[in-house]
Amino acid sequence: MSNYDTNAIQKLDNAHYMHPFTDHKALGEKGARVMVRGDGIYLWDSEGKKIIDGMSGLWCVNVGYGRTSISEAVYQQMETLPFYNSFFNTTNVPAVQLAAKLVQISPPQFNHVYFTGSGSEGNDTNVRMVRRYWDVLGQPERQVIISRHNAYHGSTMAGASLGGMKDMHAQGGLPIPGVVHIEQPNYLESGRGLTEEAFGIEAASWLEQKILEVGPDKVAAFIGEPIQGAGGVIIPPSTYWPEIQRICDKYGILLIADEVICGFGRVGRWFASELFDIRPDLITFAKGVTSGYVPLGGVLVGDRVAKVLIEQGGEFNHGFTYSGHPVACAAALENIRIIEDEKLVERVANETGPYLKKRFAELAEHPLVGYANSCGFVAGLNLVRSKGATVHDNVAFDPSLAVGMVCRGHMFNNGMIMRAVGDRMIIAPPLVLTTAQIDEMLALIRHCLDLTY
Ligand code: PLP
Repeated sequence: MSNYDTNAIQKLDNAHYMHPFTDHKALGEKGARVMVRGDGIYLWDSEGKKIIDGMSGLWCVNVGYGRTSISEAVYQQMETLPFYNSFFNTTNVPAVQLAAKLVQISPPQFNHVYFTGSGSEGNDTNVRMVRRYWDVLGQPERQVIISRHNAYHGSTMAGASLGGMKDMHAQGGLPIPGVVHIEQPNYLESGRGLTEEAFGIEAASWLEQKILEVGPDKVAAFIGEPIQGAGGVIIPPSTYWPEIQRICDKYGILLIADEVICGFGRVGRWFASELFDIRPDLITFAKGVTSGYVPLGGVLVGDRVAKVLIEQGGEFNHGFTYSGHPVACAAALENIRIIEDEKLVERVANETGPYLKKRFAELAEHPLVGYANSCGFVAGLNLVRSKGATVHDNVAFDPSLAVGMVCRGHMFNNGMIMRAVGDRMIIAPPLVLTTAQIDEMLALIRHCLDLTY
């Protein structure tokens, strides 16, 4: 894209644009890389360099870039009705159609949808909704929401409080009252000596301990990402989620699955709750619902909660200007049509997901890699100082050595985006990735691991 003056854009960027999650001083004089175009799984920067987007933007461009049918759906909706809200006894056609479509593709306990503009707003909505639910049922003392350390649930006050990121809590007076955290089910870090299955049960028991500590009659809900994404793609043992479900049922606590990353085919199911065999009461969604083409998020509201709020709750004093935005909903409808028509969920489940799993696991042979695994189209590997007898004997690099950042830099310079979370390198590629493209991506990763070693 030689018609962009990269230096001029970077100068303006430096002068005026405060980026999210960015240390501007560390960004330095040269500034940020400018992305200008996308097609399929590829991006191009302002200097014309082609890059494989191993992260689907921010885990969201599920159908890949350059889908003209989404742009056309957006254009048509903008021409017809660019905006109308659904407050005060009004509604709009795409929002209604999308709500019905989401109900059709989601687990059977979901018959209602609450729209927001983002995943963070979806989780804020969850906080208010679960507390309102218990209020209406005459148990207002049920206020506490249990979440997990190292979780990511967004950047609003409530979202970041539910999240368990220490660096986020250190800024701005977080967490808000009534949010407590338990350890994440990270077998690699904490599972020493146990089988994965036994560790899954043990990690779930931390929830029960916390419920008893807080007092069961004070706990409103538990929230978790089925697979922790931003925390470094932590895939829990198969025993973990069913045990969490059992504990929530035992104490009558609402279960919230934050599927902002996992939803819309990323794990080879429409929702990861199906894969992990759980029955959440609420599901947060965003990202893949529109493949990121237009911002949209929301909450799938299960019958247990919807019945109480609708039949007994009166007005729920909550909502966003852009709840059910017609243009965003039109984009989502077309995006979901593409996922269905191209059988992307089935492809990730049966063809490309298993192939990625096999090829990605081969990276564990590399001297710099201790452990590599994936689930559908999320994958992560641990960079290690030396190979040990078992995965736990590998001493992980001190994140302050920033070896992950070095590896990420090599990836970036060699034409692929792979994210570094401490000593973990992670990917979440677009669901349209072919097996040939998986080979192309894996060759690049291997090459960059060699450069980092
Ligand atoms: N929940 C999860 C699991 C996420 O990964 C994210 C974003 O990465 C969010 C919530 C927040 O979504 P948003 O950035 O759309 O507010």
